[in-house]
Amino acid sequence: MLDATSLKGCPTLEFSVSNKRMKVSAVAALVAGLAMAGAVSAPAQAQKPSAPEAHAKADPKTTEQWEPMPAVVTPGPTDSGPPSDAIVLFDGHNLDQWVSTNDHTPAHWKVADGIITVDKSAGNIETKQSFKNYQLHLEWRIPKNITGEGQHRGNSGVFLASTGPDDAGYEIQILDSYNNKTYVNGQAASVYKQSAPLVNSMRAPGAWQTFDIIWTAPVFAADGKVTSPAYVTLIHNGVLVQNHFRLTGETTNSGTLPFNPYQEAPIKLQAHGDPSPPISFRNIWVRKLGPQ
Ligand code: MG
Repeated sequence: MLDATSLKGCPTLEFSVSNKRMKVSAVAALVAGLAMAGAVSAPAQAQKPSAPEAHAKADPKTTEQWEPMPAVVTPGPTDSGPPSDAIVLFDGHNLDQWVSTNDHTPAHWKVADGIITVDKSAGNIETKQSFKNYQLHLEWRIPKNITGEGQHRGNSGVFLASTGPDDAGYEIQILDSYNNKTYVNGQAASVYKQSAPLVNSMRAPGAWQTFDIIWTAPVFAADGKVTSPAYVTLIHNGVLVQNHFRLTGETTNSGTLPFNPYQEAPIKLQAHGDPSPPISFRNIWVRKLGPQ
């Protein structure tokens, strides 16, 4: 409460009202001014409905979207099977969709009993078709009799864009990481030398593993500069292990390389030179995602 005592000693203001000069304390003038401002603004606030009131009055129909309708895609009989809009890259029969990476001759890995087994002497293989943004499903199996340790135990990989010969591109590591210590940004489901998986969701050797991958390709300006980097989301055996990870460039053994401009690129599988028994693949399909 302000009273005469509390205002004693305060500076005073002098102004005129109806030609009469008046002197009041500066504090009293400030209090009066604030009261007037409140009196003026109070009615304006009262006219504005609160957020819950506005929400209650809004017609829900104004926020319903009816067009365009999502295309109908018939899913596979199981989540491993290709949906109706998928491009099947391996259906258990042949490698017609694949070529050798380095010379583009027909791929020569072994196909038997509905699965592909890596031929390490034949080098990497890649798809004939090229892709930009996509969803990829593939399954891989470390043989039950796997040997070796570290990076020499079932090493392979899937390159999300093969931008050149050999191991050029962006590798998601494939390895036996069930009970096999190595550097974590090189274990199975890592973005090689860039990002360890969030968790280790490996199954034991002899069991099939699934990778479901969402790849957002890097975007380049006409002069080759990166306008948007690459991102990857990876689900390993139904478990999220890479969550929209932003890549820093191409993957390589010695660290990260710069992004190498491309528009579309094949998907590549690695024939790693480690001496352990070769791994196998099955059920490989891809769905193109926009923008292409
Ligand atoms: Mg590898």
